[in-house]
Amino acid sequence: MAENLDFIREIVKRDTASGRYGGRVVTRFPPEPNGFLHIGHAKSICLNFGIAREFDGACHLRFDDTNPETEDMAFVESIMRDVRWLGFDWNGKLFFASDYYEQFFGFAVRLIEAGKAYVDSLTESGIREYRGTVTEPGRESPHRNRTVSENLDLFTRMRAGEFPDGAHVLRARIDMAAANMKLRDPLLYRIRHTSHYRTGDAWCIYPMYDFAHPLSDAIEGVTHSICTLEFENNRAIYDWLVETLFDAPRPRQYEFARLNLDYAVMSKRKLLQLVEDDFVSGWDDPRMPTIAGLRRRGYTPEGIRDFAARIGVDKANSRVSMELLEDAIRDDLNGRCPRVLAVLRPLKVTITNLPVDGIDWLDAPLWPRDSGRDGSRKLALAREIFIERTDFSEQPPEGWLRLSPGGEVRLANSGYIRCDEVVKDPLSGEVVELRCALDSGEDNPGGAGKRKKRAAIQWLSSAHAVRAEVRLYDRLCAVANPEDVEEGKTFKDHLNPDSVTVIPGALVEPGLAGVQGGDRFQFVRNGYFVADEVDSKPGAPVFNRIIELRDGYKANKAAPSPAPPAVRKPASVRTIPDERTRSRLAGPAQAARHDRFIATPGLTAEQADVLTSDPAVADFFEAALAIHPDARSIANWVVNDLLRELKGRALSRLPFGPPELAELAAMTDRQAITNPAARTIFAAMMAGGGKPAEIAARLGLDRVMSDSEIEAAVDTALAPLGEKVAEYRAGKTNLLGMFTGYAMRAVAGKADPAAVQRILGEKLGQA
Ligand code: ATP
Ligand code: MG
Repeated sequence: MAENLDFIREIVKRDTASGRYGGRVVTRFPPEPNGFLHIGHAKSICLNFGIAREFDGACHLRFDDTNPETEDMAFVESIMRDVRWLGFDWNGKLFFASDYYEQFFGFAVRLIEAGKAYVDSLTESGIREYRGTVTEPGRESPHRNRTVSENLDLFTRMRAGEFPDGAHVLRARIDMAAANMKLRDPLLYRIRHTSHYRTGDAWCIYPMYDFAHPLSDAIEGVTHSICTLEFENNRAIYDWLVETLFDAPRPRQYEFARLNLDYAVMSKRKLLQLVEDDFVSGWDDPRMPTIAGLRRRGYTPEGIRDFAARIGVDKANSRVSMELLEDAIRDDLNGRCPRVLAVLRPLKVTITNLPVDGIDWLDAPLWPRDSGRDGSRKLALAREIFIERTDFSEQPPEGWLRLSPGGEVRLANSGYIRCDEVVKDPLSGEVVELRCALDSGEDNPGGAGKRKKRAAIQWLSSAHAVRAEVRLYDRLCAVANPEDVEEGKTFKDHLNPDSVTVIPGALVEPGLAGVQGGDRFQFVRNGYFVADEVDSKPGAPVFNRIIELRDGYKANKAAPSPAPPAVRKPASVRTIPDERTRSRLAGPAQAARHDRFIATPGLTAEQADVLTSDPAVADFFEAALAIHPDARSIANWVVNDLLRELKGRALSRLPFGPPELAELAAMTDRQAITNPAARTIFAAMMAGGGKPAEIAARLGLDRVMSDSEIEAAVDTALAPLGEKVAEYRAGKTNLLGMFTGYAMRAVAGKADPAAVQRILGEKLGQA
């Protein structure tokens, strides 16, 4: 273990020494399966799994899957693959928060029974109003003193599906005057009639992060729960819950600074936008800062782990320069990549003093001399070769070390060529061929003084070279901090338009014709390359540039070939304010809004971030909120539906405005239409604008099914569930939520949920 422990490892060491947990060390990595992991997650993975490894403990992989809207099994699979690829193993400790739903429910009931939780029926805006502000204490909800039995009754019925989304919430009964606003009776459960990727329609109430997270940790016997700094204020809820519900030794939460990397966006939500809006080819596009993207790009797990070690673990947020990551990757590639020749933009050279049919087989080492590694291949030197177009200059600048008319240059692994003649296309004037003479390759021919130091350039015999597609990648974002953009712009306005250059007609050595996806090489003077794991095929190789060689050794500069130097550039870490203060930088108005949104009940911190990421979005949100004052409802429509469907288009181009969205939200909330109907209407509005009520009428979605129609639909829904119905009648009443889900689906948004519930109840009651 390293001598210099970071502050978290110091704590773990202290707790191990004091025997606080009987010597046990249990950490966890708790991703939400709502996207692919990114390099920021890698930092957390290295920290959590690293500590477990170093202290002989365990690190659990736990999917924090309590938001039914955004989660998916495909993300679970990608996350497991990425953690393994990074070189870590959860050793069978794989958990899902959704497996604890029943236990969570039991703990919530215990809180209610102890008078420490209550069902609140204030609207979202009511909850916000009662919550107070940073300077004023909150007020107690009129529902705060409901009796235990009243609370139990309501909570059980929430679970049974009796109420629509948003009708009630379960809140912890802590302190409405607490200075830490998070402690002002935080929400523990909300109603969401939405299918979950694992539990289906079994539940229609879902626990909040603040409730599910500490409980999951305690249930699993986690000792050190390590998360990022945004959750600092949530720690008070964490402690309150584990102290109220569990015996010592309890898990403790510690916060560290998240990774912010220059030229990259580091949030699944933003990465999802890049994927959905086709800015990139997918989550694994080699420009993406996702683990899958970096893997396809050719980055190595060893290099990424080394990067994590180099940046360390800190308590203050900062940004990390891209060079730091690139240095770590380059240092790792240097030792593992054989050196080969490739010509990206070929220019024909005829060596006039070689015979037409003659081939000289040269022995060329695959590794630099000082690497201590053996291995070589034969290179064919023939009369017609290709060199890099950029290695020739007709009018060379001062200090040019490569080929020019009358000048000479060294061919890698061979001798010198002197350019005697430049052949041009008579029409375009483009240089199409150089006619050169080959020299012995001695440094001082005829003993006439040492030759001036020349670059050794890459070249390939035209008869032997193999065509390859080469993709040169550059940074995804054109600015160092894409989060910090002018008012009215988003990170998507700052994408680098030249982040990829595809060269279809590059040439590589014949030995590379049959590479396997994932094989890595240093193309001498051009950088490190990997055979693309998706598109490279035997006989038709495709290479991605992983990274350029160190500055000063790039293709366009003269470079001694082939070994890059062992010197390491000093790490440069710039400390500038991160995302949390970004909105402040965008101006006082945005900052005030951000504060207000953060303090608004029903808005998550993430939603507050999203809503203030762009003033136009915040304007839209507030305008809709003024018409339908239900922050949760409006925020859900804006964040989950509107922004996702906008796919990067400007809000000003939307065919409808805040009043229409507010009307749709209001119709949905008062159940004039059902949720599925609302989605359909929303899609129609996106496509062509219009008023929700009119669209509903046009599509027949405002028509409520008659009782007999509902009965028929419920019968159809229950028909395949005979066994479950029998269990229900035998007393397993918690199946009601599941039946409700099936029944609601069967009426396809054309019935009043209360009527469905009533008819379902009647049907289930009939033996
Ligand atoms: P995102 O905003 O990208 O979706 P998240 O925090 O919502 O990130 P989770 O899936 O909840 O994503 O994160 C799993 C774990 O990874 C958490 O413990 C979180 O603190 C950590 N994590 C997420 N982003 C970073 C980052 N940039 N640097 C370090 N750790 C991170
Ligand atoms: Mg998240």
